Amino acid sequence: MLIVQKFGGTSVGDLERIQNVANRIAKTVEAGHQVVAVVSAMSGETNKLVGYAEHFSDEPVRAEVDMLLSSGERVTASLLSIALNAMSHKALSMSGRRAGIMTDGMHTKARIESIDPSVMQDLLSDGNVVVVAGFQGVNEKGQVTTLGRGGSDLSAVAVAGALKADLCEIYTDVEGIYTTDPRIEPKAKKLDKISYDEMLELASLGAKVLQNRSVELAKKLNVNLVTRSSFSEAEGTLITKEENIMEEPLVSGIALDRSQARISLSGVIDRPGIASDIFGRLADSDVNIDMIIQTSGHDGTTNMDFTVPMNELGDAKRVVEQFISNNEIKEYGYDESICKVSIVGVGMKSHTGVAAKAFQTMADENINILMISTSEIKVSMVIAEKYAELAVRSLHSVYELEK
Ligand code: ASP
Ligand code: MG
Repeated sequence: MLIVQKFGGTSVGDLERIQNVANRIAKTVEAGHQVVAVVSAMSGETNKLVGYAEHFSDEPVRAEVDMLLSSGERVTASLLSIALNAMSHKALSMSGRRAGIMTDGMHTKARIESIDPSVMQDLLSDGNVVVVAGFQGVNEKGQVTTLGRGGSDLSAVAVAGALKADLCEIYTDVEGIYTTDPRIEPKAKKLDKISYDEMLELASLGAKVLQNRSVELAKKLNVNLVTRSSFSEAEGTLITKEENIMEEPLVSGIALDRSQARISLSGVIDRPGIASDIFGRLADSDVNIDMIIQTSGHDGTTNMDFTVPMNELGDAKRVVEQFISNNEIKEYGYDESICKVSIVGVGMKSHTGVAAKAFQTMADENINILMISTSEIKVSMVIAEKYAELAVRSLHSVYELEK
């Protein structure tokens, strides 16, 4: 098999850990596989470099920031290759450029446009381990670019896609994706397999494990992803296409999002185009809306509730206040002490009663549901934040996720 193994910052956090990574790669090679390793900077390194740049300027020249930050991954890549060679394994490290990773010109948050894997392929067929510095590419002018924080996951998935690798393993300090946050529900179970779409919906559970952008890319390029720990031999979680999952569970996991706030508008002038005006203006102010509820109007006005990320609440309030001064909204309120609990599972598509069961669970616990939204594979409920943990635990038990 051709396996891309990506090692995050903590997995290469010091020299001993880099040696461990080298040992793991050596084992994979000895088992008869070809390996491309994609590495992050040693943990804390990128932040340190960002701090250096900010010593000189609040807005350091972005192209130079890319030159600077890309060095962190190169340090790890070369050290790992040195370690492998010292173990008599042929290995070669390379920057994003030599790996053929072409990006657009958006310094510090570039997008990968194409990958020419021919250099990597030649070296692999010569029996080398190829070690790629993650998080970086090169634009058409030949300048180094970086892919945005956490971007080495993306490098790994893109490289795996370009090489048509059999597997892309993402090594972190977590053993995989769990049915819910084990800090809330100690009975949470590690999932063996999950579909791309479920993973995207369960983003809050995987937030520390995988960047969402990389899951989207994996889905697009059809890359089989495995997240697992570099500190144990435990099998991780396979993230793959739905067809590869034989037994589709009704519910795969329970996600909790505490980062949203709710805004309630009342006395909104009920005319065609008002929603477009309000939400258009919010979008122009870069406010990301998650859930929206509009109640049926009477007397020419209506009510609307929506949720926004907590850190965009200030911007959202400014937009709403403009509508109030134009007399298009009578008044508004907001609530920061809410959370969103979601149950996610592909099996829901073909079963009824899944949502009803979630509502019943909230009723049994005397938890008032403030907002509801559903999709084919998800039911989300906004509730008071003080019930977050109770809700997660009850749902986890009702859908028997500990089994
Ligand atoms: N080193 C970069 C960062 O800390 C990229 C990565 O680790 O994925 O954001
Ligand atoms: Mg990372």
